[in-house]
Amino acid sequence: MSVERLQYTIAGDAPGHSVALNGFRIGPENATRKVFLQGALHADEQPGILVLSHLLPMLEAADARGELSTSFVLFPMVNPVGMGGIGFGQHQGRYDLASGVNFNRDWPDLFAAIETDIDGRLGEDADANVAEIRAAIHRWLDGRPPGNLRDNLRLTVMREAVDADYVFDLHCDNEALVHIFSAPHCNAVMESLSDWLGGSAILTANDSGGGSFDEVWPLPYLRAAEKYPELPIPVPVAACTIELRGRFDVFDDVAKTDARNLFGFFQGQGLVGGERPPEPARGVRPTPLNATEILRVDRPGLLAYQVQTGDQVRKGDVVAELLQLDGPEAFTRRLPVTAGTDGLVLSRNARKYVWPGCSVAKIVGTEPLASRTGKLLED
Ligand SMILES: [Zn+2]
Repeated sequence: MSVERLQYTIAGDAPGHSVALNGFRIGPENATRKVFLQGALHADEQPGILVLSHLLPMLEAADARGELSTSFVLFPMVNPVGMGGIGFGQHQGRYDLASGVNFNRDWPDLFAAIETDIDGRLGEDADANVAEIRAAIHRWLDGRPPGNLRDNLRLTVMREAVDADYVFDLHCDNEALVHIFSAPHCNAVMESLSDWLGGSAILTANDSGGGSFDEVWPLPYLRAAEKYPELPIPVPVAACTIELRGRFDVFDDVAKTDARNLFGFFQGQGLVGGERPPEPARGVRPTPLNATEILRVDRPGLLAYQVQTGDQVRKGDVVAELLQLDGPEAFTRRLPVTAGTDGLVLSRNARKYVWPGCSVAKIVGTEPLASRTGKLLED
């Protein structure tokens, strides 16, 4: 039984600058399973920080009671670089100010990284294949030369997450209900997680095209299984992005309830012992990510919403009216912005002043949409 503080100091790109990454490892040293949780990778999405701050003492208490059979690694605030993105009195933590890179896009393609290395190493034993792929990922990570601050932070985090059986990346949307992004191989796990958290959608894709953090972990196994269809190659990790409502939904009571529900989920998965709480009610089932419409505007204006999150809409329903702000019809004409699918209004834009390309809403349909190809994430 132990609680270990993980403290990394990562040198900055400017002289005299560095960042501190702080985390925790909790659980028995001989644990055979591992859960990795992080919050605020998009540093302006902060509900996860509060949730993990509540989960931490729950896990510590369970550890002290001898109820942990699993190692938990938590980085409540995994992106100290993004937390520093303060300018003109505002915090933006979505993009790296140095490069313009979205902090949750373009993580390394681990299959491309290890494809040559694993060639000839895989065989008929599923467990051995998983071990070979994990070992190859370790070798690749160990061989990375130091890069810039963002790259070095990414490598530090990846080395902590690489051997986890569960990887949970805690984000939030703009204004939204709880939902999960994941890959279909772990649908059963995500259904349970969603039930515990009272989720409103589980949006699945093997590869969104965005290279988000949660997609890093299953993809090498999924790609290897595609390349070697005659060999048994299971995916040993359940990874997801959990969207904890909207960016202004940082409330202590809500976060504590979310942490309790995560703890209940872990108990349900057999990762934590103790007295099991009753199972939550069955909720939503997974739908393909390409069946969720991301409704956008093609001109500037001010949004006047006609729906709430949680509403069901039909194709053609008016989701919002876009008040024109210039030209002869300024302030007198409203253009309807209509749903392109039947479904649930999962999210809205908290900012009502929008311009071409801005998102108005996500609508969770069930049938893949012809318009939803290529990169499937919002930005
Ligand atoms: Zn995010």
